[in-house]
Amino acid sequence: MKQFQYTRAVNQQGVLDAIAKPGTKIIAGGTNLVDLMKRGVTAPDKLVDINYLPLKGITATKTGLHIGTLALNSVVSENSLVVAKLPLLSMALKAGASPQLRNMATVGGNMMQRTRCTYFYDTTMPCNKREPGTGCGAVEGYNRMHAIFGASPQCIAVHPSDMCVALAALDAQVIIAGKKGEKRMPFVDFHRLPDDHPELDNHLGKDELILGVEIPDNNFAKNSYYLKVRDRQSYAFALVSVAAGLDLDGSTIRSARLAMGGVAHKPWRLFEAEKFLAGKTASEDTFKQAAQLAMQGAKAYEYNAFKLKLAPAAITEALKHAAGLA
Ligand code: SF4
Repeated sequence: MKQFQYTRAVNQQGVLDAIAKPGTKIIAGGTNLVDLMKRGVTAPDKLVDINYLPLKGITATKTGLHIGTLALNSVVSENSLVVAKLPLLSMALKAGASPQLRNMATVGGNMMQRTRCTYFYDTTMPCNKREPGTGCGAVEGYNRMHAIFGASPQCIAVHPSDMCVALAALDAQVIIAGKKGEKRMPFVDFHRLPDDHPELDNHLGKDELILGVEIPDNNFAKNSYYLKVRDRQSYAFALVSVAAGLDLDGSTIRSARLAMGGVAHKPWRLFEAEKFLAGKTASEDTFKQAAQLAMQGAKAYEYNAFKLKLAPAAITEALKHAAGLA
C-alpha cells in the first residue's frame, strides 16, 4: 500500500479545506476505502478522518427524519424512530453486509461505496471505472452480477448498496456542504449512470461533504418490504433486491414506491410501475403487471440473463409481502 498522511478534522470547514487539495480523501468507517487502498485500486496521498464531527444524530424534523452522515448502519437499523417510521430502511440496512461491518459503516460511506465488480478490484484487468480508457473486462467477461438497466458500453457495473435502494424508494434528500454553503439533492439524482464517465459514481463534487440525509414522512410504514435475493443468506451482495412501499386504503393502492438494487449503476427507481399501481386493487395479478412494466428496456449480458426472470419475480414477491398477501 502506498504511504499516506492521516489527519483528524475537528470541524466542517477543516474537512472542506482539506478535500479541496488533490489526492485527499475522506475516511469514516473505512469499510470500503481501506480495501480499495490495500488492493491498489485507489492510492490517496492524504486521509482526513471525519469521525470527530458531530454528524451522527438521528432526529425527527417537522417534515420527516434527519440522519447524519456518520450514523452507523447498525445504529440506524435499530433506531426506534427509524423502525417505527421507516421500517423499509431498517430492513434494507439489516440485509446489508455483516453485523461487524454494519457496526463500522456509516450512512455517508454506504452512499460512497464503490462497485463490487471483480474486474474493478483486479488491477491486472482492464477497467474503465478504475482507469478510464482501458476497456471493460466485464462486458465480454464473467458478468453474472452485472447490470440489466442503464449500462453503457463503457461500464456495466452495479451499485452494491441495500440502504441506498430504500432511500431512493423513500424520496430521501441528500444534504451536502460545499464552499458555497449547504444544498440539497434528491437521493435518486445522487448516483450516476456510467455513460461515458464510469469513473464517476455520483454527483458529489470533489470539494463537497455529505452532511446527512432527510427522509420525508410517508404512509408506507405499515406496508413495506425489502427483498434481497443473493447467493447466500448473509454477507453477500444482491443479485436483485427490491424496496417496496404501499399506501393502502383497504385493498386499494393510494400510492406506491418501488426501487431495485443489483440491476444498475445506481439504485433503480421504478417510476412507471409506481404510476401503474396507483388506484389499482392490490393483488398478485396487479403486481405481476407492474413488474412486467418495470422490466421494459432491460438488457442482459452472457451470464446475467437469469436476472430478466428473477427481477420481475422479486418485484412481485416484494409487493405481495408489502401488501400482506405473501
Ligand atoms: Fe470496470 Fe465497470 Fe467494466 Fe466492471 S463493469 S470492469 S467496473 S468498467
